[in-house]
Amino acid sequence: MMVLGLNGELKRKVLVKKIKKITNLTLAGRNPFKNHGIVNPPIYRTSTVLFENTKELGEAIKNRFNRTYYGRYGTPTTFALEEGIAQIENGYKTIATSSGMSSISISLLSFLSKNDHCLISDCTYYPTKKFASKILSKFGVYVDFYDPKNLDSIKKKINKKTKLIFMESPASLTFEIEDISEIIKIAKKRKIITMIDNSWATPLYFSPIKKGIDISILAATKYISGHADTMLGLITTKNEKLFLKIKDTAVSLGDCPGPQECYLGLRGLRTLSARLENHRSSALKLARLLENNDKVLKVLHPALPKNENYDLYCKFFSGSTGLFSFILKETSKIKIYKMVDKLKIFKLGFSWGGYESLILPVFPKSERKIAKWNEKGVLLRIHVGLEDVDDLINDLFNAFKL
Ligand SMILES: *Cc1c(COP(=O)(O)O)cnc(C)c1O
Repeated sequence: MMVLGLNGELKRKVLVKKIKKITNLTLAGRNPFKNHGIVNPPIYRTSTVLFENTKELGEAIKNRFNRTYYGRYGTPTTFALEEGIAQIENGYKTIATSSGMSSISISLLSFLSKNDHCLISDCTYYPTKKFASKILSKFGVYVDFYDPKNLDSIKKKINKKTKLIFMESPASLTFEIEDISEIIKIAKKRKIITMIDNSWATPLYFSPIKKGIDISILAATKYISGHADTMLGLITTKNEKLFLKIKDTAVSLGDCPGPQECYLGLRGLRTLSARLENHRSSALKLARLLENNDKVLKVLHPALPKNENYDLYCKFFSGSTGLFSFILKETSKIKIYKMVDKLKIFKLGFSWGGYESLILPVFPKSERKIAKWNEKGVLLRIHVGLEDVDDLINDLFNAFKL
């Protein structure tokens, strides 16, 4: 049986460079005519991989990061997903991990050692900040947070030991957009590694590696999988050196996503463009209505021209997605919670990126160290799903008496 997806084929890669990204979403990482004509790569389950003789075993050991070797190193299903994502991300190669969070922790652990200094945006996903300040610091890494809206503060914080800058743009609660090009310029001058959490935009609407970022991370649990039924992370690197270092760390830490999850990630990729277009337009419609409503204090959606991040949004992103936040003028937590409990279609729960609409009251103030959050009132983060947008509008406007 051939190894599906593994390393791709040169001819296909040349073709893939010429076609548009949306078409490539349907093609990348599969090769039906090497698999009985079956459209999707199958789910390969394995721990042990057999070698025909000692010569092949020797070659396998040398080449273990680029072939089937042992279950923890990946199966052909893993490789098919990794190949597909690497193409969409314009990267050298992708490493699939068991969650978005493990992609983040593995990437950080791959490059940071004792006495190194790292900079993380203060508006980043809180578990990322917590991992850095609780776990990396235990191993002697100096963890520092920067205000993503203040480039000077980043410059001032950089020192000779600064090894890595971690961005998340937009931030997934408050939607600040970072001036990625300027941060890359600062980092490149000093040979600092740059990483970004690109889960919100996905490679469809923002291409970090094309912009010059070294490592792009996706919580594939969100839009890539798209159906609220998979935990999965993806790390794409700019070059081989970065890939080998991260892959070695992932394998040493014992992280490996199951083949079922990889299959679901790859299946989600096929419909990403159709889903995102729907999330995008419904979220914008809802955001505009909220923005024009008297009872709403503020809408935090970077694709609204009135939003303070709008210029940077236009500079970097080719589209927006279904996740944004808003603040009501009403500040009573009790009253707002009563309204939230009246919602029928929007459900209360963590995560986002699935087909279903979600809402979550969040409190950025307690998470911030540098970029202070001074807004009063409850921040309501919503994920606009694939339901009919008029039903969503009715649900929200009825519950909140807007
Ligand atoms: C959910 C999320 C993650 C973590 O992904 P998991 O798969 O839940 O571990 C990372 N970054 C952002 C922005 C997220 O929203």
